[in-house]
This record gives sequence, structure tokens and C-alpha cells, in this order.
Amino acid sequence: MQFRDLHAQYEALKPEIDTGIQAVINSSAFILGKPVAELEEKLAAYVGRKHCVGVANGTEALQLALMAYDVGPGDAVFTSDFTYFASAGCASIIGATPVLVDIDLDTFNMSPAALERAIQKTLAEGKLKPRVIIPVDLFGLPANYPEIKAIARRYDLLILEDAAQGFGGQIDGKLACSFGDISATSFFPAKPLGCYGDGGAIFTDDDAIDARLRSLRASGKSPEDKYDNREVGMNSRLDTLQAAILLPKFKAFADYEVDAVNRVAERYTAALKDKVVTPTVPAGYLSSWAQYTVLLPDRKTRDRVQAALKEQGIPSMVYYPRGLHQQKAYAWMRLSDTDYPNTIEATNRVLSLPMHPYLKPEDQDTVIRALLEAL
Ligand SMILES: *Cc1c(COP(=O)(O)O)cnc(C)c1O
Repeated sequence: MQFRDLHAQYEALKPEIDTGIQAVINSSAFILGKPVAELEEKLAAYVGRKHCVGVANGTEALQLALMAYDVGPGDAVFTSDFTYFASAGCASIIGATPVLVDIDLDTFNMSPAALERAIQKTLAEGKLKPRVIIPVDLFGLPANYPEIKAIARRYDLLILEDAAQGFGGQIDGKLACSFGDISATSFFPAKPLGCYGDGGAIFTDDDAIDARLRSLRASGKSPEDKYDNREVGMNSRLDTLQAAILLPKFKAFADYEVDAVNRVAERYTAALKDKVVTPTVPAGYLSSWAQYTVLLPDRKTRDRVQAALKEQGIPSMVYYPRGLHQQKAYAWMRLSDTDYPNTIEATNRVLSLPMHPYLKPEDQDTVIRALLEAL
């Protein structure tokens, strides 16, 4: 059994994917070929935004988004403490300072109350200028945008949505990648919409930001003369081959994979909800289930259950074993576990189970049985 079976999806889409790859090779337009523009148009229309800019990966999508708003030294960037490193690293690498915010344990997403406390503390200290909030749509579930947007308005902050895990998620029928002033996603193979290597995209409704991003992803070239750079950018374009692979994968994603993975989630929840804490999906929200993550009673039980699953050949993962405040790169911040009680609780108790749209009911039953037995 696989944790996320990418090959089952390839088997289902093989003719379209192979044809797309061959067409790119035949065209020799490997950099910013037609499939990139076609994909950008389709993704922008799907999430309901004016522009989509394809870039090299999700990490650089976040970084470029911050660069497009001139975020830098002296700026505070508020993000979740319980996430993949890039949600904060994107700020550090351009000289801004990440401010880590505790989560709500029921959704694993940034706590709006903790966010507001962090903003007030930063203002009171007076060393950094609050600029950006990066809410993370963790495990496929959109962050609490209704509350976070109200806070952003109150303190005049920009929202950069980290939808690397959230593509396909919804709140009240609105899609992920439409919630931030600017939004970023990743096409890393295991994400809800993944390619066959690295890839990412940025979404905006602002024409000037779109133009700046298209320049920044190509080293900062001027629109009129590519050998006259108007600023210092990056080399971060979405590969034509990856765009060609994403086109049929996106169609399957939108047509049936989001529904299929939600059916898998419902089956897990029905079978497990009386024995472990199953994921909460607030009313009006839809998850795209980058992960299906349960909470076990404590670390000892979690580790024991994971070992028992492993013994039966069932893969599971601990996303995440530590908060960002506990990582070496941020040791200099000298942050205390006592300020991140929900992150700590989550790191001790989470277990992510095999999850993907092609998970067979028989295999899912094997996971469920093994987990319940181990308990
Ligand atoms: C994967 C991920 C990223 C980075 O995406 P890459 O394409 O791997 O660079 C950023 N944020 C979150 C929350 C992620 O899960």
C-alpha cells in the first residue's frame, strides 16, 4: 500500500499525459511554451482570479509574492507555527522576520486569536513593522479567512495565502487561492494537484503585481528588453513539460478527484470518529485533503499505533514532528514551547493516514482495521 499512490493516477491518465509530454518535446519550446500559458489561464479561471503566474516551486511562489510587494528587512510576517518550513522561510530569505503564531487544534490552522495577540505584541515592542499575514491552508483545509481578513483590515496588513496544500479547498463555494490579496500554491508531486517534479503558481487580481511577478520570475527582465533588467529577480519559471503534465491532471482533479478524495475522507471519518479525533471541517468549508490527519490520545499511543501499522506494511506519517519555533533555523528567536501549546499538542498526537483519490475501499478497510486493533 502507498501513502499517496501517484502511479494509480498515472495509469488512469497515461494516454493524455504521454501525448502532452511528447508534444512539448516535438515543439522544443521547453521554457514558457504554450502549455504554461494555457495552464495559467485554466487555473486562474478555476479559482476565480484574474491572473495566474506559473513558477518553479511553491517555496519560490511565496518568496516572489513577498518580493512583488517589496517586503523585506524590518517587516514582520505572521505565519503559522505548525506547517512546512517554507511558510516562514520565504520571509527570512528576503530579510523579513517571521513571527510564528499558534494554531487551533481542531483545524490545525492559524488561530485568529493568537494572530491578533502576536500583532499587538509586535506593535508594542516597536522593532518590526507588521506587514503580511501568511495563513496556511494546512492538510487541504482553508484557514479561517473570515476572521483573519477582519484582523488584516484592522491592522492594515496584506494577506498572502499559502495554499501549497490547499488547492481545491473551498469556503462557501469560493476556492482556495482566491482568499489572499495574493495566493501561492505548489505542484510538488504529493500535493493535491501535483506535477512530475517541482512546480508552483501565484494568483492575483492586480495587473501591476501580475506584470511584476512575470518580470521577477525571469530575473527581473524589462518587458520591452529582456537584456535590460529593471530589478533583481529570480530564475523561477514553471517548466513547459510540467505544465503539459498538469493540464490533464488538472482536468481529472477538477472533474472527479476532489469528489473522490472527499468520499475517502468520509469513509475514514465514519469508521474512526468514535475512537480517535478525526479532522474537523467547519460548516461551509471543503477540504482537498492533502492529508487525512487524526489525533491520538498521546505521543506514546501515537508512536505505538504508527509502529503497529508499519508492521502490517501500512505507511503513515507524522506531519509535523515539530513546530517551526522548535527548528534549528529559528533557535535564535528563543521561543518557548509554552507560547505554542496547540502546536506542541499536535506534534505529540498527530498521525496522517494513507490518502489519495485512488485509494481502494479494501485498502482503506485494511488501514481502519489495523488502526482500531492497535488502539
Ligand atoms: C509544500 C509546501 C510548500 C513549498 O512548496 P514546494 O513546491 O515544495 O517548494 C510551502 N508551504 C506549504 C504549507 C507546503 O506544504
